[in-house]
Formats: sequence, C-alpha cells, structure tokens
Amino acid sequence: MFLGKSLLVLGLLQASFGHAYQDNDEPQTVLSDQAVKRVAIIGAGAGGASAAYHLDKYAQVAGIKANITVFERSSHVGGRSTTVNVFDDLSEPVELGASIFVKVNKILVTAAEELGLTVSSADLHRPKESSSQLGVWDGERIVFSQDDNGYSWWNIAKLLWKYGWAPIRTQNLMQEIVGKFLKMYDEPYFPWQSLSQVSYDLGLTAVTSETGAQFLESKNILPPFSTEIIQASTRVNYAQNLPFIHGLETMVCMATDGAMAVQGGNWRIFDGMIKAAHAQVKLDTKVTDVIYQHDGTYVISSASSPSSLSKDFATEPEDTINETFDTVILATPLQFSNINLDAPLIEKRPDKIPYVTLHVTLLSSPHRLSAEAFNLPAGSSSVPEIILTTLPKETKPEERAAGVGPAGFFSISTLRSVRNHAVDPPRKEYLYKIFSPHPVNATFLGHILGLSEPPVLPDPPVSQDVSEDEVQEGSTAKPAVTAAQPSGDVTWIYRKAWHSYPYLYPRVTFDEPLLGNSLYYTSGIESFISTMETSALAGMNVARLLADSWLGKTPSSSSSSSPPSSADHKDAVTQDAASSKKTVAAEL
Ligand SMILES: Cc1cc2nc3c(=O)[nH]c(=O)nc-3n(C[C@H](O)[C@H](O)[C@H](O)COP(=O)(O)OP(=O)(O)OC[C@H]3O[C@@H](n4cnc5c(N)ncnc54)[C@H](O)[C@@H]3O)c2cc1C
Repeated sequence: MFLGKSLLVLGLLQASFGHAYQDNDEPQTVLSDQAVKRVAIIGAGAGGASAAYHLDKYAQVAGIKANITVFERSSHVGGRSTTVNVFDDLSEPVELGASIFVKVNKILVTAAEELGLTVSSADLHRPKESSSQLGVWDGERIVFSQDDNGYSWWNIAKLLWKYGWAPIRTQNLMQEIVGKFLKMYDEPYFPWQSLSQVSYDLGLTAVTSETGAQFLESKNILPPFSTEIIQASTRVNYAQNLPFIHGLETMVCMATDGAMAVQGGNWRIFDGMIKAAHAQVKLDTKVTDVIYQHDGTYVISSASSPSSLSKDFATEPEDTINETFDTVILATPLQFSNINLDAPLIEKRPDKIPYVTLHVTLLSSPHRLSAEAFNLPAGSSSVPEIILTTLPKETKPEERAAGVGPAGFFSISTLRSVRNHAVDPPRKEYLYKIFSPHPVNATFLGHILGLSEPPVLPDPPVSQDVSEDEVQEGSTAKPAVTAAQPSGDVTWIYRKAWHSYPYLYPRVTFDEPLLGNSLYYTSGIESFISTMETSALAGMNVARLLADSWLGKTPSSSSSSSPPSSADHKDAVTQDAASSKKTVAAEL
C-alpha cells in the first residue's frame, strides 16, 4: 500500500499499558510461582514481535522472568513487512509488503521512537514531476485527479464542488469510528479476552456486520463519492469493492492522516521490538507441531525451513527439534502455517477464511507513465503519479479477483526516482509498484509505459501462476523474478504474490485471542482490521492477558450485554456479502 499523503490510507489508535503496568511502575512482588516462564511465539511479523516486546515489558514490571523464543520459518523478521533492494543495491530498499502506517498508529509510532528509528512522510521521495499527485482511473477515464497540494483550497473546492458534503460526512464518520476503535487500547476495554465482545461493546459490530456500500448508504454517503473515492481506497488497500468489504475496514481506509514509513523498511520496528525483548529468534525454522501435554505444557516441534536449505541438502531428512513451553502464542494465520495443532482443550479452532492473493510488481524504467494509456492527451504533463482504480459507473461490482474490473489492476504508484548505474553514463529511472489480482505481463507494461513494443522481460518468462506454496511460505528467498536488461525499457523487476489480507466480508464474531489453555492467537484481528498496527495491537493484547494470568488477575469485563453468538456469524467463505442482512442494530 502506498498512498498520497492526503488521501486513502490506513489509520488508527492509541497505545496504553493500562494502569497496572505503567512504565514507571516499580516491579511488583511476584504473586505467582517463581519459575521462569517459557514462552514460544510462532511468527516474527508485527503480531509476534509486538507480543514479545510487550510481554517483556509487562513481565519486567510484574517481576516475572520470561524466557521468550520466536520461531520464524522465513529468513527474515517482519513477515508481510519486508523490503527488497532495487538493482540489488543495499542502499535502495523498497517495501514489498506493508509500506505505510499513520499518525494514530500509536504502537508503531511509539516503538519507532523508542527504538530510535527514522520515520518520514510516506511519499517523501515521490518524484513530484507531474501536476497530478493522484488520480482515479475506471478503465476508461480518469474520474478524479488531485494536484500535489493535498490540502490546498483548490483541491478542497474541487472535492466539494464535485461531491457535495459527502467528503465532510465521511471525514466526520471516520473520526467517530476511529474514536471508538481507540478505546480498545485503554481500560476498561484493554486487555480484551474476546474480540467479538469488545467489538460489540464499542458499537463496532454494527459496522463490521454491514458491507461498506450498505454502511455508507445508511449514512447518506452515496455515489459518485463512495464509488469513485472510497472504493478506490478499499481497492488499493484491500483489493475489494464496496459491496463486499465490511464497513469498518472501509472506514479504516479513509483514515489517512500522517502517512509515514520507517527509513530502510518498516520491518526495522519488528526487528527492534524482538531485540529489545531479548528474545531468542530462530530464523529459517518452521514449527511443524504444537502438542498439548497432560501437565499443561506444550511440546513444539520445529525443523529447518526448506528455503534455508541449499539444493544439495534439499532432499535430506530434516532434523526435528522438540522443545517444551508453558505458553504458546500463535502469531500467524493458522491456515497458512502448516502446523499440526494438537490441543484438545481448544474451544473453537480459528476459522479458515479466504485471503486475497495479491500480485505485487516492483519495476524500474527510464519511462514515465504514458498519458495515452489513461486516455489523456498525448504528452500531457498531468498523468497522476499514483493511479488508483474504480469501476465504471455501469459495471456491476464483482468480488475477489474478478472485482478488479476493466482497469485490470488495483493501483500503480510511482514511488521515487532511482539511479541506474549499470548504464554509462548512469541514468535516472522511475521505480513503480503495481498491485494486481494476476501477474502483469510485458504487453501491459509496454502499454502503461507508452512503448511501441512490449519490454523484454527476464528469461525464462515469468509464470502466470505462482504456486500456492510460494505464496504460503511468504518467502522472498525465491523471488519470481530478478533483474531485467540493464539498458532496456524495464531494467529491474521483482514480483511477489502474497496472501496479503483476508477478504473482509461482513461478520459479527471473530477468532479470539485465547484459543485454549495458555494458547494465544493474534491473527483473528485480521478479519476485523488487517494492518501492521492491528496485528501489533493483538500482540500487545495477548501479552497483557498472559501477564495478567501469571499474576492471577482475571480480566475485567466492560460489557453489560452479550455479543452475537458465532451462530450469527455468516460463513465468510460462502456468504453473499451483498445480500447480508443487518444482524445487529446500528449503534452509530
Ligand atoms: C502487499 C501488502 C501491502 C500491505 N500494505 C500495508 C500497509 O501499507 N500498511 C499496513 O499497516 N498493513 C499493510 N499490509 C498488511 C500487513 O502487512 C499485515 O496486516 C501485517 O503485517 C500482518 O502481521 P502479522 O504479524 O499478523 O502476520 P505476518 O506478517 O504474516 O507474520 C507471520 C509470520 O509467521 C511466520 N510463520 C508462519 N507459519 C510459520 C511456522 N509454521 N513456523 C514459523 N513461522 C511461521 C511467517 O513466515 C511470517 O513471518 C500489507 C500487506 C501486504 C501483503
């Protein structure tokens, strides 16, 4: 996700350690037994890193010794937050996954500060050579264009002239919803033992139970603003159209203030968190089994990940290591983890939910985006540097990959200019990022770059299908493509298919943070809101639940009423979201 500074991002939140764990608290007397607590965290992404970071803090304040081990099957920390290097040049990292967070993402903002990382505006390096910063393309024409001064009176006047009061209503609604969401960081809501309950208590289930289209309509936010602007945002952020994505994630897409990124890569936050927690990290180590023992502990079996083995050893049997832990935090979607989870006390296993397969293409080219490709006059200097997409007015929105519509892609961002030193003399090029439901081919690239012939791409040609294993492993060790022709029209290209985020169909219950006896789960939050910050929040929440359990504290209940039962939860896989009925009275 890479968006303009004034429009369309992901936002949220406020961090708090809650009263019992203020940072300046003196360590408490240990109330529980003195033994060192052995905690296994599976996954070194935002959720796992935050769990380690906060658990270490809570344990210190509580005077409890925690021995934290983080298992990570890939070769890097950060999970879906990771960078690759343009031209293989270490000084040119570029985000391949999660690229931005926003001002109200307090866990990330605070951690970046505490860890001494440099944060800058997300579009600091955008070339800013076009008179249009951002445009929305429907496959036939640019339906909206914004110049480079996001908050200029001209941009605001244009918005109001075209869309009336809908932008203002949206802004107010977004602030109201983010305000409710922020309460999840504070007592009496934090820590929450049930995500379904806290969502209900805060009135957010009323928003997750409807599609974005239904929710916006009920608030008198109508087309064309909803379909041209808000839907462009849900598509670039989540590859989903308004009649299918739920209302809460729709509103999150409009929380855009203060989009920022960590210099060198957002993964540095998660790397710093794990280091600060003094956790032992086992990279290239996949967990294969989590087995509950009668004494209440878990045995974790792990082995070297295939990606870390050289070809010579690929067929050798893998050495399995078994280790015992008191607590396990599963910080990755269970369905992609290939873990055999043998824990009979689990009340409800996490749902298998559909995830978006998103194709990310990074490429460098000396050419700028073509005006003709976007039906602008030849040579126009106003080709937007960031092109978002929506559907033409008469096109019926579809779901999943077919939802992309005539545009064929979700976004094209001109990230920055780069220097290609492989040609003599070195030349300036442009670094682009494309989000699409299918791999983009040479013909498409030739078209958007205004070339008479498709560019020559690396040999062998990129396969149109990335194997499910490659997506699941989340491995960047095996990129689909590396460098192209040093002096060609596309000089560097990198492709990656991700299980990027869930299809966020309306729902009223969520997978809970506590799966069973001392077994915690962070990824349930992805069906609620899927961002780095919310995974970090889920990590902080399970850390606090765990620390409280060590201290013999029972979670405070803020609720006076019950959330909908899981029987009300429409099957996310088969549900026709567009026809979903309201199951919860609108509380907003
Ligand atoms: C292309 C793209 C763009 C995005 N843009 C943004 C954005 O701009 N802003 C934003 O906030 N969010 C964005 N997101 C979403 C964001 O990346 C995720 O919500 C967040 O990073 C999820 O963090 P996580 O820790 O929950 O999961 P992950 O990051 O997926 O971490 C889970 C980790 O567990 C490991 N693992 C899995 N199974 C095993 C096993 N068996 N043994 C050991 N390790 C295992 C995985 O290798 C992985 O490293 C984007 C995602 C993608 C893909």
